[in-house]
Amino acid sequence: MRWENLSPGSEHSRADAALFGAEAVTTRTFDTPEFRGITFHEIRARSVVNRVPGASRMPFEWTVNPYRGCTHACVYCFARKTHSYLDLDTGLGFDSQIVVKVNAPELLRHRLASRSWRGEHIAMGTNVDCYQRAEGRYRLMPGIIEALRDHANPFSILTKGTLILRDLPLLRQAADVTDVGISVSVGFTDEELWRTVEPGTPAPERRLDVVRAFTDAGIGCGVLMAPVIPFLGDRPEQLRATVRAVAASGATSVTPLVLHLRPGAREWFMSWLARHHPHLVARYERLYAEGAYAPRWYQRRITRQVHDLAREYGIGPARAGAPRRVPAPAPEEPEAGLPTQLTLL
Ligand code: SF4
Repeated sequence: MRWENLSPGSEHSRADAALFGAEAVTTRTFDTPEFRGITFHEIRARSVVNRVPGASRMPFEWTVNPYRGCTHACVYCFARKTHSYLDLDTGLGFDSQIVVKVNAPELLRHRLASRSWRGEHIAMGTNVDCYQRAEGRYRLMPGIIEALRDHANPFSILTKGTLILRDLPLLRQAADVTDVGISVSVGFTDEELWRTVEPGTPAPERRLDVVRAFTDAGIGCGVLMAPVIPFLGDRPEQLRATVRAVAASGATSVTPLVLHLRPGAREWFMSWLARHHPHLVARYERLYAEGAYAPRWYQRRITRQVHDLAREYGIGPARAGAPRRVPAPAPEEPEAGLPTQLTLL
């Protein structure tokens, strides 16, 4: 392990701390195989509960994100742009420069106990994955879940990380006293596509094992089928295989979402596309000519196909009040002055 303590004093420290919206920054690297090449910026954040502006369109108003950057390294990740607000690279830097809010559990507990807090729903996994590999080392989520459990505060988690299984007993305890929503993101089950487009994530089948485990434990778990990737993951047989596997996992719902290509994600995804599937570049440029979203006709077609398959395999879309609370993409209030945004895993 190597570390460089940038605690108060040096100019470097003050600049980094201000940039990260923190009191101090400690930078570490670890020599273990799973963390090789990754730099962790440990910060003592000033706040951890963030308000979502324009929340009237959202099923929740508050989020908690203990990390920034994500070693799951999905090439399409919509959160990439948020790294630029920290003066960090949005490509490989997003995958390997991870900001860790080491005091997230204590900040949350403090906020939940404050007189101004009204016990509203808190969504997690809305920006980057709170069960990415770093969580195995930093173990922030147990303290966060304990705080929510102790205050009987409703919450939801969206993840691609199988590490969430570590916290299943705690999540069960929380579900006994409040409304807990768990969703797992599985856009496709195609193994070759997974290896190239989501290289740091657990395999889709392993994620569906998470759904199975939660279902067996009596906690309903939905699947966000995201992203459906045009021309690579949208063939009828691919959609069928994915929905069939989702149904077999016991998911309470399946909700499709077509790939978005916002600035930040778009450049990184398109450069990946040019390397791996150059013949698709022109088709993508046409499909996303209007901006970040595929045309409505395309989105409707995918949604209809997935809903038809879901009916066939006996799972429905999420119902209001069901244990799935998937955020729609929207801007999130900046943390300590930093612009950021909500994303989907
Ligand atoms: S899409 Fe989600 S899991 Fe993938 S890199 Fe982004 S935050 Fe991590």
